[in-house]
Formats: sequence, C-alpha cells, structure tokens
Amino acid sequence: MTALVIDGKARAAALRGDVALGVMQFVAVHGRAPGLTVVLVGDDAASAVYVGAKGKATREVGMISSEHRLPAATGQADLLALIARLNADPAVDGILVQLPLPAQIDADTVIAAIDPAKDVDGFTPVNAGRLAIGQPALVPCTPSGCLIMINDALGNISGAEALVIGRSSIVGKPMAALLTAQSATVTIAHSRTRDLAAHVARADIVVAAVGVPHLVQGAWIKPGACVIDVGMNRIALPDGKTRLTGDVDFEGALARAGWITPVPGGVGPMTIACLLANTLAAANAHHGSAA
Ligand code: NAP
Repeated sequence: MTALVIDGKARAAALRGDVALGVMQFVAVHGRAPGLTVVLVGDDAASAVYVGAKGKATREVGMISSEHRLPAATGQADLLALIARLNADPAVDGILVQLPLPAQIDADTVIAAIDPAKDVDGFTPVNAGRLAIGQPALVPCTPSGCLIMINDALGNISGAEALVIGRSSIVGKPMAALLTAQSATVTIAHSRTRDLAAHVARADIVVAAVGVPHLVQGAWIKPGACVIDVGMNRIALPDGKTRLTGDVDFEGALARAGWITPVPGGVGPMTIACLLANTLAAANAHHGSAA
C-alpha cells in the first residue's frame, strides 16, 4: 500500500476561500470587516515570521489585520492593560498573543485575561474548559486543522481507535477532546508511555504532536491508518544546511498508511486557515449570527 499524501496547502486554500466568502457576507451585513489583532512582545525572529504570515493571510481573506509590537522589556501590567483595551474595542473580533512571551511575563495570566469571545487561539481556560465538557468553544487552530483532514480522509470516525501522541494544552489535549467528541476511542501517549509501538500498531488514526524527529517508525503503523504529523523539527543535514521534518518516519509510513500528512505542507498551512475561520466565527458570534 502507498498512502495518499494529504495536501494541506490545497485544503487550507479551500478553507481560506470559504472564509473569504464568509467575510464578504459579514461586510455586506455589518458594513465593516472582521478584525484580528496580533500582539508580539520582544524580537524573537521565528515569532516575527509567524506574526507576519498571520497578518498577510488575514488581509488576503479581506479581514482587517492589526499588530502591536512591544519591546522585549515590556512589563506584565502594561501587556495586561493592552489586552483590556483590546477586549473593550468593538472593532477587534479576535486577539492573539504570540507565544513564547519574555521571561518576566506569566503567559498563563496574560492568556487568561483575553476575552474568551475574542480568544481565536482557543487557549483561554474558558474555551479549553468548554471544549473539555462538550460546549461550543473557540477551538485551538492546530487540532482543528488536523480534525478537518482526518474527517476528509475517513468520514465518520465513530468507534475508530485514535492515538494522540503528546499531551500539550495547545495540541495534544484539545486534539483528544475533538476526537472523543466524534466518538473515536482515544488514547493519549506521552513521554512516560510504555511501548509506544504497540499503541501505534492498534491505531486507525495517529496524531503525532511531540517534537522528536522520526519518533514514530513506519513499521509501527497499522496498514491503512490515517497519520497526521504535527511535529515541526529543524534538523541538520550533512552538507551543513537544515530542513524541516516531522515526528513520523515519512518514507517508512508511506508504505503502510492509508493517508499521511507531509512536513512541511500538511498541518502547518491548516493552522493559519483555522485561525482565520475562528476569527470569522468570533466576529459572527459578536453580532449574534451563526458562524
Ligand atoms: P510540547 O508542549 O513540547 O509537548 C510535547 C509532548 O510530547 C509532551 O506531552 C511530551 O510528553 C510528549 N513527548 C515527548 N517525548 C516523547 C516521547 N519520546 N514519546 C511520547 N511522547 C513524548 O509540544 P507542542 O507544543 O504540543 O508541539 C509538538 C510539536 O508540534 C512540535 O514539534 C511543534 O513545533 C509542533 N507544532 C506544530 C504546529 C503546526 O502548526 N504545524 C503547531 C503547534 C505545534 P510529557 O507531557 O510527558 O512531557
């Protein structure tokens, strides 16, 4: 068997197209475009690249993108004051605080200060709690994108064996909650898990969100499984260059899986598209209309 390689770029383009249509409808009804505000503290180079990419994608679907770039020495009180202003600003539908934050700022406190209705990353305790108990929520973008690709591949996943490797609050835990909500039988693996290979071998769906290059060996994969590789690991090549790779041995898994996402070009593009979808949903919810 050779797996079907899921084209995350194409799927994300289709989702962005849907969002752009929704934005046009929103503008027609409300006379303004939805607005996403990104807050970046400090000068981490990778964060600056992510923020730039999010702003570009936001403008491309017709939404208003604004950025607050604050110096690395910004204090927590100043950042909380900015969040309070954005929470109160009716033109701001979505607020995203780019992580990581500098050491003098407690990220949990800052995230918790975001109005849950504007929390388009889905990281506030309120949205995490709503997701956990099955209430409508703004859901973290990476697991949302993974779920779309899983549903595209498999359709109904009720009763399927799903393995989520990784238990972070931004990927693993919400991913497990989303799969559980669709009645998959979900196992969560982590660094203390014994015999990861045996868990992978049972799984119809594998979501790897670890950050260890090629942790999941191709030979472990159940034939026909749907393999979603969230990992983004930069590895050194013998010629001194680097390249991005996932948590799954892609070549080995290709021969056994039914579907697999590549790295890059799989989960990554879907994450930004889901951020745009969340922003549109938040804007519609502010006006009491369906997402
Ligand atoms: P994280 O917070 O570091 O969590 C990693 C998880 O992996 C932890 O739960 C850890 O277990 C588990 N783990 C570590 N070593 C393991 C092992 N040998 N076997 C099984 N589990 C192990 O990472 P994250 O933020 O969730 O991100 C995970 C990966 O996804 C990273 O490569 C990140 O760059 C990538 N990512 C990609 C996107 C995207 O848009 N493409 C978005 C977010 C993240 P413990 O809990 O026991 O420590």
